[in-house]
Amino acid sequence: MIKIKASIDGKEVPLSEFSSGIERKIYLAAADAVRERLEGVKCPEHGTPLDALILKKAEHGNLGFDLEGCCQKLVEACEAELA
Ligand SMILES: [Zn+2]
Repeated sequence: MIKIKASIDGKEVPLSEFSSGIERKIYLAAADAVRERLEGVKCPEHGTPLDALILKKAEHGNLGFDLEGCCQKLVEACEAELA
């Protein structure tokens, strides 16, 4: 199963430090929805699934996701699935 991780300003942090309360619930629900869509995606070159979905928060509070997998081809396949 794809893991869900979190990072702030590029540094990995526990999910409990990423946010709290209702905010964390919203992020986790969003991450879960993305994970569900990516669960069946495999790398066209290596046949491996995505390793982790990283919720990230940058300095200006911009939220996003990073995809962690074997290579760029897998990341592209996942991005295509989400597009
Ligand atoms: Zn690959």
